[in-house]
Amino acid sequence: MSSQWVDFAAIKRSVDIRQVLDHYCVRLKRVRQEYLRGLCPLPTHGSAQSRESFGVDTGRNVWACHSASCCQARRGKVGGNILDLVACMEACSVREAALRLRGWGDVSVETGLRDQLVSKGKRSGRSQEELPRLSFTLRLQWHPYLEQRGILGQTAARFGVGYYGGSGFLRGRMVFPIHNVGGELVAYAGRTMDGREPRYLFPPGFHKSQVVFNLHRAVEFAARQGGVAIVVEGFFDCLKVHQAGYGNVVALMGASLSDRQSELLHTYFRELVVMLDGDEAGRRATRALAARWPHAHVPWVPAGGQPDQLSSEQIKRTLLKASGTLGA
Ligand SMILES: [Zn+2]
Repeated sequence: MSSQWVDFAAIKRSVDIRQVLDHYCVRLKRVRQEYLRGLCPLPTHGSAQSRESFGVDTGRNVWACHSASCCQARRGKVGGNILDLVACMEACSVREAALRLRGWGDVSVETGLRDQLVSKGKRSGRSQEELPRLSFTLRLQWHPYLEQRGILGQTAARFGVGYYGGSGFLRGRMVFPIHNVGGELVAYAGRTMDGREPRYLFPPGFHKSQVVFNLHRAVEFAARQGGVAIVVEGFFDCLKVHQAGYGNVVALMGASLSDRQSELLHTYFRELVVMLDGDEAGRRATRALAARWPHAHVPWVPAGGQPDQLSSEQIKRTLLKASGTLGA
């Protein structure tokens, strides 16, 4: 990824800001010939009362949000061009925004000849780049839903999990910060609390298959545990297992294991305990993991069960049965 040369000017020239708005399903009102206005779609937007602070000049292909929260998050910048918009929406660098925009199927991008030549399958020594750090943080708060799910205040604080009351696509959701292995914040994911679909929402363009949740903390703990890590599916599974005394737990954020996730696990751990959900998808993912880790320990999770529904005692018993070496 890092070796790709990006012609920012060519991209800005060839993409209409309305295509970018369409891509994110942002609906604005036309207030003048070349001027649209509406609710701010940016994840940085924290002022719930501000109305229609987001404006777009389709003639000049630029946008702006005048709310204090957005300006502050962008260190005083009020708006920008299409690449700034994508960078804001996806919480990534401008360079990364250009690369992602180029990969969208619904927008055709003029990339320039040199760009096409250089991007032809050139790869750096490491198979994949670390995800870039976010340039902002969201203000999250404790919510009774966490208690309903059996999460203690100290666990929520540890993971930085909380309710997001601001605006943007995570509004009204239980939000989980996601870090790269270096401990840098790279994305937020949000879960509905009332069963609404989609239950989990990730930032557009963010691929959860490129990350292992809680890896940066687990690596440290695993080093003291002989390189053993516990692999679970979801955020809440991860929090509950951590709460039971196992700091060396990581989550796949779903019931599938990508090549990149497998590579990350192989890089940082010597041995795995695979504790996925007791449903069909979980069993399938367990078999896939076990195929790549022939010595993986697989504790028995009852049919239909999942770690986040177990108490700390039950989690300990389940893990102790899987391996005598896994003291909490
Ligand atoms: Zn805004």
